Amino acid sequence: MEKYLSQLNDAQLEPTIQIDGPMIVIAGAGSGKTRVLTYRIAYMMSKGIDPFNILSLTFTNKAAREMKERIASIVGASEAKNLWMGTFHSIFAKILRIESDKLGYPSNFTIYDAQDSDKLIGSIIREMQLDKDIYKAKQVRSRISSYKNSLITVRAYFQNPELKEADAMARRPRMGDIYKEYVDRCFKAGAMDFDDLLLKTNELLTRFPEVLAKYQNRFKYILVDEYQDTNHSQYLIVRALSDKFQNICVVGDDAQSIYAFRGANINNILNFQKDYDDVKVFRLEQNYRSTKNIVNAANSIIDKNQTKLDKIVWTANDEGGKVMVHRSLTDGDEGRYVASTIFETKMNQQLNNSDFAILYRTNAQSRSIEDALRKRDIPYRIYGGLSFYQRKEIKDVLSYLRLIINPADEEALKRVINFPPRGIGQTTMDKLIVAANGYKRSIFEVIKNIDKTDIRMNAGTKTKLQNFVTLIESFQVMNQSADVFELAEHVTKSSGLIREFGKDATPEGVTRMENIEELLNGMKDFVEGQKEIADATGSLAEFLEDVALATDLDNEKGDEDQVSLMTIHLAKGLEFPHVFIVGLEEDLFPSAMSMNTRSELEEERRLFYVALTRAEKQAYLTYALSRYRWGKLVDSDPSRFIEEIDEQYLEVLTPVEERRINPMLSADIFGDVEPNKIRYKPAKHPTFKKTKTVKKEPEKYQAPTQKNLKPVTKSGGTTNLFDNKLAVGNVVKHIRFGTGEVLKIEGDGGDVKAEIKFQHGGVKKLLLRFAKLEVI
Ligand code: ATP
Ligand code: MG
Repeated sequence: MEKYLSQLNDAQLEPTIQIDGPMIVIAGAGSGKTRVLTYRIAYMMSKGIDPFNILSLTFTNKAAREMKERIASIVGASEAKNLWMGTFHSIFAKILRIESDKLGYPSNFTIYDAQDSDKLIGSIIREMQLDKDIYKAKQVRSRISSYKNSLITVRAYFQNPELKEADAMARRPRMGDIYKEYVDRCFKAGAMDFDDLLLKTNELLTRFPEVLAKYQNRFKYILVDEYQDTNHSQYLIVRALSDKFQNICVVGDDAQSIYAFRGANINNILNFQKDYDDVKVFRLEQNYRSTKNIVNAANSIIDKNQTKLDKIVWTANDEGGKVMVHRSLTDGDEGRYVASTIFETKMNQQLNNSDFAILYRTNAQSRSIEDALRKRDIPYRIYGGLSFYQRKEIKDVLSYLRLIINPADEEALKRVINFPPRGIGQTTMDKLIVAANGYKRSIFEVIKNIDKTDIRMNAGTKTKLQNFVTLIESFQVMNQSADVFELAEHVTKSSGLIREFGKDATPEGVTRMENIEELLNGMKDFVEGQKEIADATGSLAEFLEDVALATDLDNEKGDEDQVSLMTIHLAKGLEFPHVFIVGLEEDLFPSAMSMNTRSELEEERRLFYVALTRAEKQAYLTYALSRYRWGKLVDSDPSRFIEEIDEQYLEVLTPVEERRINPMLSADIFGDVEPNKIRYKPAKHPTFKKTKTVKKEPEKYQAPTQKNLKPVTKSGGTTNLFDNKLAVGNVVKHIRFGTGEVLKIEGDGGDVKAEIKFQHGGVKKLLLRFAKLEVI
């Protein structure tokens, strides 16, 4: 037997070597589902199956890349090159480019991101003169998105009075008209949004049987990871493609279905056995990722859900530490607890930053955590949020590049036709938009033929418009021979973008220039990387495709050692030795918006299960008694999810406990107040029924000594100042206030105080006994 197969247990081996027919692996977190898919593809190739015939769909492109690398290490890189692996969106965008003419699209269609869609919807709402407080662009977009994911086309919409009625009830009677206009405008601009990539694929496979047959024959073997989170549109694509050969292997965990709010349908996994004949069902039970405490804690929580398949998850791994529960006064304190715990654990256990992840329910929670990490100088990386490619300056560059490929791209044109300023004003643009709508042509074409139109404008404006067209056409010529890096370098200069951004000497302006430089660097890397892929050339078109379809996890920069911050939704499939789940408070997690029905609450619980099962060695759950939300300090109660975990797997740290474990930490929070004088706000919140205060004798607490801290070195080393060796003029770092200079030292014995001028916090007097300072 192949050697790599010995890296699987018996239960994993079975589905790995079962190649033909429909099959499903249903198993809990960390049991090796993704590993099975990876090894299975390697095994299929070793049995002579042509990689061209294998299609593998993953949740992120990064996951696909990692799988591909692993497979390449088993079967060789040249063979692995030919595998089709990636997200639904990236794979079907490729197919749509090949088949676009059938749907009346150019093969170089643009992919609109959410921002582009919002802008277009915004302008349609304006043009229709609708109330933008009722018709909010983002809400309208999400409504349109849900139509598309349920395959409700514009025509189907108007044929269904119930839909119209529902929108009218929601005070948006013109939804259908906006939907129609949006679809028409995207089509005219040669643009598809994300949902179109699936909707149009479905259209392609249904309307053109010969196309369906072609891809059925091509993808004789189909594999899908995270099957529990496929939506209806994705489900239909998989069904159609696998219908002929029925060699379909899906893996998933119903307990980790967390995308219902985006249309994912948990029934896809529950009904799989009904969809195909003779489905082989495999179960994996051994978890290889986490300690016993984590696995058991996670089991005890998911047990509370009523809708679930019965599954067993156990592990032979160590018992590990109990899941820590920590209560803070405020979100700021929570951040400081997380940062100092990372700092200390890293020191004590010789770990890297990348061994830690901080997971939260909503993006907004990252701010207080970030503040604390920065104060501690702990490097971190936030995933999600505004991605690099959505920053203003980057979108400006990309818009020029998009126009080169597809001059009909309305959103790109509107963005840069007068940036840098060329004296083309809004009145001119309004005339062009009206004309383009009237002639049913793109704005670009209207400008090209401006003399043949009946648009009234002066000769000067016409020249400015024509100069813009000439500029883009000159880029198009260059695009025929240059790679994306050479082209972009030229475009940023001759469009005037570099000059424009260069004028701005503020720190923000400098950052913009750095970002553009970073973009160009990325392109250089991309051109190099494309050499690894069959048929790729490093062209602009390839680059834009890559950028448009990058998921939030894909834009990974190098392999810097950083703590990872992300929402739980993004963390699916990932693993980290130490995981903090923060903000475990009622109304935040579970979210206030998801507590109306049992099924919503169960989805929140699954989300919590996903979060907890990312941890390999240690999990920490934190919550705060009050937190800033929408600019106001609000009181909060601990999340019900903490209480739902079987208490034997928890270690609940009370604030008192927290002080004993780390008295310096509390001193820090309160500046120069002695910890035992701190009055905690009386706990008006219910304490857990299962709360168990870990009683440790104070004497047992070991103050940091020179032994367990880094040695004192004069040059660049850090020192703990418990022994008060601090001199005027020293530059020090404080956990909360950052860097500062010592101005004065006064007092003696245990009362020595230092007056320190902090760069960002003014002058502060700190009691050295408690303030944790480092000389730098
Ligand atoms: P999730 O549900 O979170 O996606 P999963 O079921 O896909 O999890 P994997 O990510 O494939 O699980 O595996 C979890 C961890 O266990 C990985 O680090 C993987 O390398 C390891 N692992 C899986 N199977 C084995 C095995 N037989 N021997 C050693 N390690 C294993
Ligand atoms: Mg997985």
